[in-house]
Amino acid sequence: MILAPPTSRGQSVWLHVGTLLNGTSRTPGRDAHVVYRGDTILFVGPDGRTPPRDLLRPGQEKPDVSAPDATLLPGLIDAHAHLFLEGGELSPEKRATYLKQTPADLLLHARARLEKLVRLGIAGVRDAGDKDGVGLALSKICASDARPLMPYVESPGAAIYHQGRYGGFMGDALENYVSPDACVAARVAAGADRIKLIPTGIINFKRAQVTSEPQMNTEEIALLVAAAKARNRQTFAHASGDRGIDHVIAGGVDSVEHGFFIRDDQLARMRDQRTAWVPTFSPVQKQVEHAALMGWDKPVTANLREILERHATSLVRAHELGGIIIAGSDAGSVGVAHGYGLVEELELMERAGLSAITVINAATGVSAERFAYQEKLGKIAPGYRSRFILTEYSPLKTVANLRQPRVVVFDGAVFETELSTSDCGM
Ligand SMILES: [Zn+2]
Repeated sequence: MILAPPTSRGQSVWLHVGTLLNGTSRTPGRDAHVVYRGDTILFVGPDGRTPPRDLLRPGQEKPDVSAPDATLLPGLIDAHAHLFLEGGELSPEKRATYLKQTPADLLLHARARLEKLVRLGIAGVRDAGDKDGVGLALSKICASDARPLMPYVESPGAAIYHQGRYGGFMGDALENYVSPDACVAARVAAGADRIKLIPTGIINFKRAQVTSEPQMNTEEIALLVAAAKARNRQTFAHASGDRGIDHVIAGGVDSVEHGFFIRDDQLARMRDQRTAWVPTFSPVQKQVEHAALMGWDKPVTANLREILERHATSLVRAHELGGIIIAGSDAGSVGVAHGYGLVEELELMERAGLSAITVINAATGVSAERFAYQEKLGKIAPGYRSRFILTEYSPLKTVANLRQPRVVVFDGAVFETELSTSDCGM
């Protein structure tokens, strides 16, 4: 196990590592020095460049940790998770019972996950919505002076969908407002950090396609996007099925979430518009892994595999085209645990054919740059938060190495972490 640095409160900590992944560069830094104090990175020097003395403790002559075999990378960001849901739970009955709890109890359970996420190396979570105010409450706690040990959390509050269509379990219908603008205004007034739209249905696994009509047309999405922009909020859209994805791209949202059955021409248009893609392989992968329990027969399971293969091909295509790819696990979905699920998602992206560095950047700096989080996380750079992972198991060999024992630094505090694959009940 790598030597853990001391906790940094008021004093500087100096690390010297063999490999530095800064969150955005595709070229790893070598022989790198990093100095941080408390929650802030002060100095980053690759290629053996040592820090100026005035940033160090008086009389400090050598690094607190010198680890030529270690890799330092930013703490991970899950750009799509539902913190109100218990992801590891597989039983439909137990999931249904869980959701019958009061909003206060749902919040209590969600709060209990936060410290665990920090210890796993999760620096930030872009919550993808709930109708009971759980995400909004967490976002407020995160921004408060009474913040407990927790990752950065932001939330859209209730997702926007059409009455009678998919999304009722996490949304508040557009029909409840006099106009799209009034709907977005209400979200922002409630504290939404960004606006979540549900413009399509979900995949019909038996037929291996999205069989329902899109919920929203382009004009409606454009109105919602304009209302959000007017209030300085980004928009993200649940969208699967190429017809619905057409509406979403033309409507000008900041990101397509899921995007199953996306076409290559859509990926090219997204690149041109800088529309990000959060492909969320995990929820479908879990349906394959637990096919029998989910009640899927052989033909349906074959459909699921085909959907995943097609999604993998699209992911590689998106990368070749130069599109913005961002990692999100959809944790909270059936079988997708918070924290652990993100590492699994990264493995699926790598298995699809992306390089480890592309996948890591998708869960760190690329995510931070495109989604403009309110805390400076996701990069190893001066002024950014001191939230990183220190490991002797190179994640450049495979991102699966992020399961190996590692040290997590979070705003200067230090945790020694062993990600157990069996312990996934959150
Ligand atoms: Zn979701």
